[in-house]
Amino acid sequence: MITSRLTLRALFSLDLLKCTVLGIAALLIATGPALAQAAGCPNIIFIFSDDHAYQAISAYGYGLNRTPNIDRIGREGMRFDRCLTTNSLCGPSRACVLTGKYSHLNGFYNNANSRFDGSQTTFPKLMHAAGYQTAMVGKWHLISDPTGFDLWDILPGQGVYYNPQMIRNGVTSKQSGYVTDLITDKSLDWLKHRDPTKPFLLMCQHKAPHRNWQPALKNLHHYDGVAFPEPPTLFDDYAGRGKGEHEQDMMIRSTLTAADLKFTPPGDLTQDQRKVWDAYYDPLNARMKELQLSGDDLTRWKYQRYMHDYLACIDSIDESVGKLLAYLKQTGLDKNTIVVYASDQGFYLGEHGWFDKRWIFEESLRTPLLVRWPGVTRPGSVNRDMVSNLDFAETFLDAAGVSVPAEMQGRSLKPVLAGKTPSTWRQSFYYHYYEHPAEHNVPRQYGVITPRYKLVHFYEPEYAYWELFDLKRDPHEMKSVFGKPAYAKVQQELQTELARLRVELKVPDQDPPETMEK
Ligand code: CA
Repeated sequence: MITSRLTLRALFSLDLLKCTVLGIAALLIATGPALAQAAGCPNIIFIFSDDHAYQAISAYGYGLNRTPNIDRIGREGMRFDRCLTTNSLCGPSRACVLTGKYSHLNGFYNNANSRFDGSQTTFPKLMHAAGYQTAMVGKWHLISDPTGFDLWDILPGQGVYYNPQMIRNGVTSKQSGYVTDLITDKSLDWLKHRDPTKPFLLMCQHKAPHRNWQPALKNLHHYDGVAFPEPPTLFDDYAGRGKGEHEQDMMIRSTLTAADLKFTPPGDLTQDQRKVWDAYYDPLNARMKELQLSGDDLTRWKYQRYMHDYLACIDSIDESVGKLLAYLKQTGLDKNTIVVYASDQGFYLGEHGWFDKRWIFEESLRTPLLVRWPGVTRPGSVNRDMVSNLDFAETFLDAAGVSVPAEMQGRSLKPVLAGKTPSTWRQSFYYHYYEHPAEHNVPRQYGVITPRYKLVHFYEPEYAYWELFDLKRDPHEMKSVFGKPAYAKVQQELQTELARLRVELKVPDQDPPETMEK
């Protein structure tokens, strides 16, 4: 153990040396400190939101809202159209990002009873050891305290939207304000007071737009008079699919609560804030009750309310991104700072009648990813390769000139960002979700995704069925073709590939006991 630590330390010294050599070379040719750093190791700002559907980023072209600042990251860099998550859930995605490993190797399977082992190797630790200043601000949600950061200032658990408590390097205090603004201000404050002679990693992780979608009070009126277009599958009846889809509990129609729909105000508002809240929602709620809606009309109303609140939360995130980009521009840091925008997973905005995530299906499997990397990525690039949150740790280490540990399971996106995807890039991707039995009643599932097909196994004994989707013919995943003679060859190939991936990725045959509720 001591030997391996020494070896790692020696490696870090070499990594730091690489930066130092570049830094000295830069100093010799540069005229100012920003330029000196510009030729050395890049800074990284990782902006990570929670449950932000790609459909709700205007760069993706769905026409639901406008996110000019998030869009700008893609316009100045690359928009990824096929970034897939390993396990579509808050905690497991965060653990995957930190470790570059699937849940079965990083030990964080689900939000119900997993606890992150902070002693394991993470990319912030490796970057810190290589000379980076590191900070983690916002939603952490991994139960144990963060490790590997000079500063951590996090929400306890999920956190709340208004006047939240936050824990700064172990000390808890109540804050005044809106959570997205607080996370932004704390991130900017750290940037302004950091040591300007060292490169930095800032992880700015938002709570928004997580349920129950409570907007900044100043943004409540943003969508007045807007009727959001309904997705074509809002009234999906799940014909052509199995027991899991029929029995889930994540429906716009029946699962949303009075708190979700803003008939019950949150308890975290001050008296003055509560007045603003009531002045907005009370008249709308009264009008809705007068209408005495039922059936599909009531579902339509719920969808509109859900979308209003969800998108108004995203407006604050876009403002936050704008403030961070403006600071980088003002200080000249934009020239040597990689900016990444991603969410922990995708989200349903009424597709299949759902909100929430969890499934291997497109809206929750995919997550938005936009990256600007000056000097590496051609502005305005669009990429459709299968990339993943599994690749983030490797990418950041590669960018920092730090060796990527062999145990990490993803690949650096640096060549992809440079427009040169290696010919050996993955053509299939493994997915595995574990949180069942639990809220929303979505069964455990694993599967394989290829550019055209998706094969999924719902493997708990009370489910025990397979589905196969042909994304080219059935992009909304409405009808499984598993067992259809026309797909026999494809099905066989996918089953072989799935078995191969499970061996390659060291997936255990049985889910371990720690995936069960204690
Ligand atoms: Ca999430």
